[in-house]
Amino acid sequence: MKLLPRPATRSLIVSLWGLALAAASGAAAGAIVGKTFAGLALGLSAWIGYALLRLSVLVNRLRSRRRLPPPEGWGLWAEIDRILWRRQREARARQRRLLEGLCAFREGARLLPDGVIVIDREDRILWSNEAARRLLGLRDPADRGRLLTDLVRTPRLARWLAGDRGSEPLLDLPAPQDENLRLAIRQVPLGQGRRMIIARDISQLMRLEQIRRDFVANVSHELRTPLTVIHGYLDLLDPDEHPALREVLIELAKQSRRMTQLVEDLLTLSRLESERQLPEAPIPIPPLIDALRREAEALSQGRHRIESEIGCASDLVGSVKDIHSAFSNLISNAVRYTPPGGKITIRWCDDPRGARFEVEDTGVGIPPEHIPRITERFYRVSTSRSRETGGTGLGLSIVKHVLNLHQAQLSIRSEPGRGSVFACIFSAERLCPRDAAKETIA
Ligand code: ADP
Repeated sequence: MKLLPRPATRSLIVSLWGLALAAASGAAAGAIVGKTFAGLALGLSAWIGYALLRLSVLVNRLRSRRRLPPPEGWGLWAEIDRILWRRQREARARQRRLLEGLCAFREGARLLPDGVIVIDREDRILWSNEAARRLLGLRDPADRGRLLTDLVRTPRLARWLAGDRGSEPLLDLPAPQDENLRLAIRQVPLGQGRRMIIARDISQLMRLEQIRRDFVANVSHELRTPLTVIHGYLDLLDPDEHPALREVLIELAKQSRRMTQLVEDLLTLSRLESERQLPEAPIPIPPLIDALRREAEALSQGRHRIESEIGCASDLVGSVKDIHSAFSNLISNAVRYTPPGGKITIRWCDDPRGARFEVEDTGVGIPPEHIPRITERFYRVSTSRSRETGGTGLGLSIVKHVLNLHQAQLSIRSEPGRGSVFACIFSAERLCPRDAAKETIA
């Protein structure tokens, strides 16, 4: 049976030989003077003394952080030295590899074109890279331990950092030292409350976006004049007076109306996209709901049952014109996508987050796979149905932009063939007591 590995057996044998040699030498020396046992005891004591000496050397080596000398000799002590030396070499190699990895990572993060800042749970800076100096004016290591919000004094950044930890990126933030530099800020949670903040220069992207917006706005604006002329001439041509051209004139009038609506919607979108803050005032909700209901009835022309409910005692603070336009877009969709005989309910009610404006219909509904993209410009579930009903494909985009500017959310629940509920959810900060809204109207 193999009790010990081969090197250990060999060392044990060598050590036992050492012990036997010390005992035999002591006994032989003792025998010369007639004291064999005393000699044997002396030999054994010398061996124990040597063992204690090696033990203290071993303790010193274990305690010391210095590099161990390569092992020499035979026996158990030399074997222990060999094991220690090998372990130390392996540990040092592992440490070197880890350090190299860490250095490479740090170097990479330091030279990243994006600003990287690591902050703790109190938003104190733990580390930042070179791009963070260029983009946000942070100096590493001088700024370590300081609050990020003390060094980058922008209310938008402070609000964003204090908000929901997994929130959307903060877009179009002007750089503190250079207003022309526009930044996008993202955050990555790192555990133990720490966060990595990444700042990216999006100035070029914003410039291109501005060019695109200007182009759409200019084209839409330029289209207005020729469209007005076409409308003017079409108004002069009464289809009843020109029976041969009746169909053509009716179709021309319909298409030119659609084109005008498209141009108006594009201009509205351009305005909303370039707007940072809309003019705000308390909006009295009951008269607004009444007006929306009348609009729905005019659009439906008796084909639907239309109801309204007001279950929330507060009013809304926002841009009257844009809120009206967003709500009436939702109502117009409900009328257009609900077959005759269906029911449409307009609601203003309480919500755990504040209040909710809701339009519920019993219409065609939307298959779930289309819902995530439905607020994109010109995105349609069915192009032919949208055209048939006179849609421009921009209605929900407008709704989304208006809601974003009011820090509100659009929630869509829908079941194909059964109907849809479009809800605009406003936070409690957007609400005001009903009397306040009345006073501003008076
Ligand atoms: P459109 O002018 O085409 O109606 P919108 O942006 O208002 O454009 O709506 C985008 C698409 O969303 C529509 O084409 C339609 O398919 C779908 N949609 C919007 N509202 C409803 C609704 N209440 N019921 C069913 N589908 C809807």
